[in-house]
Amino acid sequence: MEELQFNELMNLLRHAVSNSKFYRELYDGIDIESFSSVDDLKRLPIVTKEMIRQNIDDVITIPKMGASVSNTGGTTGKSLTVYNRKVDSQKRMAVLDFFKMKHGFYNLKMKRATFMGKHIVPPNQKKKVFWRYNAAVKQMVYSSFHITEENIPYYIDSLNKFKPDSIDGFPSSMYDIACYINRNEIKLDFRPIAIFPTAETVTSEHREVIERAFGAKVRDQYASSEGAPFVWECEYGHYHYDVTTGIIEQMEGSNEVLVTSFTTYGTPLIRYRIGDSMVFSKSNDLCECGFNTPLVESIEGRAIDFLYSTKGAKITLVNIANILKYMPNSGLLNNS
Ligand SMILES: [Zn+2]
Repeated sequence: MEELQFNELMNLLRHAVSNSKFYRELYDGIDIESFSSVDDLKRLPIVTKEMIRQNIDDVITIPKMGASVSNTGGTTGKSLTVYNRKVDSQKRMAVLDFFKMKHGFYNLKMKRATFMGKHIVPPNQKKKVFWRYNAAVKQMVYSSFHITEENIPYYIDSLNKFKPDSIDGFPSSMYDIACYINRNEIKLDFRPIAIFPTAETVTSEHREVIERAFGAKVRDQYASSEGAPFVWECEYGHYHYDVTTGIIEQMEGSNEVLVTSFTTYGTPLIRYRIGDSMVFSKSNDLCECGFNTPLVESIEGRAIDFLYSTKGAKITLVNIANILKYMPNSGLLNNS
């Protein structure tokens, strides 16, 4: 795996130097071909979000037109737009599918319920239907904006009819529904294989309440919208640093990490200061699941704050970030 990781690193560095003006100039005078291990990365300068944002046109290696675009919904700091190849997104989706498969969930073959921040319910809709079906991926998408005490029974009714094999999306939304289920001692007509939270930090309270309500394990993973390497939880409850998806280094004297990603060829991220911190396990014990990589004990940096709407629905931090990132003074429009 170390060899695979090193080879992937060299492919990425060569690609960046050949195709990105920003990296070619940044690495001027450094002989990349003399690198012999992942540790040689330390010879390269650190790249910050501000550097990428200000030089985005020189950083990117593909035309913006037709690129797969993602805005960091980031829960901290200013927003950043990254442009990637379709195959980069496909690889990231494949990693997520692999992670879910390890827990027994097969994407496209099984049914998933998703709680997300997309606006799927028109503001003037009167009917208590807060979900839409995405047939292509057997996915029922639930609005995270309408989860109030009054509406929750409709959500539960829909879930009971749909009988999802997994639930994914905002843990804060699942938590509100789970609290209602536990409080009213409701017996569900289905039992998902696993629950896969995204975008927000999962607290131990979230985990306990959601697992009790749905009778399934919460399986967490970390990745960012910029395209950081993955850290995911295996069937033994350990967080694995997935070395096949990139390199995570720790900055000297702190837990803050620098990431190098193998799935961001359109906007290369190399020794990128993403703003998150991780505590790695000190023990060299191998996990029983058989995926022999370093283990992560905790990931810090993603806070969980929220507002309540006048109707009592939770507006998550991710929702707020999604609104603000399109504002003219968010820093985003200066680049486009
Ligand atoms: Zn494991």
